Amino acid sequence: MSDIRLRFAPSPTGYLHVGGARTALFNWLLARKLGGTFILRIEDTDVARSTEESVNAILEGMRWLGLEWDEGPFFQSDLFPVYREYVQKLLQEGKAYRCYCTPEELEKKRELAMAEGRKPKYDGSCRGLKEEIPDKSFAIRFRAPQDGITAFDDLVKGSISFNNEELDDLIIQRSDGTPIYNFTVVIDDATMKVSTVIRGDDHISNTPRQILLYEALGFPVPRFAHVPMILGSDKARLSKRHGATSVMAYRDMGYLPEAMVNYLVRLGWSHGDDEIFSREELVDKFTLEGIGKSAGVFNPEKLLWLNAHYIKNGDPARLAELLLPFLRERGVEPTADGPVLATVITTLQERARTMLELADGALFYYRSEVLYDEAAAAKQLTSLQYPILTAFTQRLAAWEDMTPAGIEVLFKEFCTAQGIKMGQVGPSVRVALCGVTSSPAIYDVIAVLGKDETSRRLERAISFVATQL
Ligand code: GLU
Repeated sequence: MSDIRLRFAPSPTGYLHVGGARTALFNWLLARKLGGTFILRIEDTDVARSTEESVNAILEGMRWLGLEWDEGPFFQSDLFPVYREYVQKLLQEGKAYRCYCTPEELEKKRELAMAEGRKPKYDGSCRGLKEEIPDKSFAIRFRAPQDGITAFDDLVKGSISFNNEELDDLIIQRSDGTPIYNFTVVIDDATMKVSTVIRGDDHISNTPRQILLYEALGFPVPRFAHVPMILGSDKARLSKRHGATSVMAYRDMGYLPEAMVNYLVRLGWSHGDDEIFSREELVDKFTLEGIGKSAGVFNPEKLLWLNAHYIKNGDPARLAELLLPFLRERGVEPTADGPVLATVITTLQERARTMLELADGALFYYRSEVLYDEAAAAKQLTSLQYPILTAFTQRLAAWEDMTPAGIEVLFKEFCTAQGIKMGQVGPSVRVALCGVTSSPAIYDVIAVLGKDETSRRLERAISFVATQL
């Protein structure tokens, strides 16, 4: 075990976004690699925007990706007394002060500053107040240093510094008594002993404010690693305009968690030119040094390619488990007397790119009545095929070896005996069994369906053809 303590600290105001998931993943990977601790903290101080539904969506997304946490989930809404205690401490030490300015006054000052071409910054009117003003509501501000610089060595971006002059006397507690993010995050990261903060680089400008708070509170400052944002193909920050941004939407579109994990990690991290990483390889190879300085562009085709890879190489029994909900959505419930789903999958996984394609591809195995595609039937199930289908069905009835290789032999012998080519029997049998002309290898299909079901489907096709005689 190492002492490294990492955390993912989402605000529960929506679903688990792919950007958030990647941040979680980087934290999780480093914790697992170094034998450290991964903490989950729900930042729900914004009571109006935080919902339980969103908390559940985030937890579901984390579980789906396999990012199990070691501590938490902690909820900031349970910690208000702790924050209040630290606000009091800062007040008592003169490191924070009551600000009685009303929002309207602040807005006016802001407008004036803008009009005069100054940077809108709190003017410090309440900084020097000696007395409390009774019966007037107040926010609490941090008394930030007004000169000097605050610098840190970012583990991704290198050294970063800010002039303190640029930083405001930050409000740490609103007039309604609720604390704000920049304050709660410091208290929590300090009390939860987080040693390294990995988060999106949209938080870089918050970091100097937080560092000043750590220092004022006498806490050790953690290390920071700010990860570049994820962009869409037009180089704008990834948003719904670019397609789905919710991790769970990808599950619903038929993506596997391992494809998502592999994709997300590569979107910002690299290890040579390698593209495909198992979870174990990621844990082994992941380092913060491998995180790039520039933003990754979300590429749906690459995600699809990875998904196809993981379906193709996936364990059929596991894929079967994941496929069931998709089949049920399509009104199919595999039963013990039907084809075994894992076997069905072995005939389809070579070509399916998503679980939706896998589910659609599996349907014909389970439908009691094959749906003939009109064009396919018009070509392959005509009166011309009647003698061939009938003869083939008879030959099959007497055939013993029902393995794919055995069935291949059956077709070869049948063609020789009839003096025909495979092309004169294969496509018709295929339409009789599957309803369409594209399907898995016909030998595999027959082996999976078994002799009885194959014969039943052939008989039905023969009756269909007979109506045209
Ligand atoms: N709740 C913040 C967010 O979701 C967390 C930022 C941080 O990691 O410090 O953006």
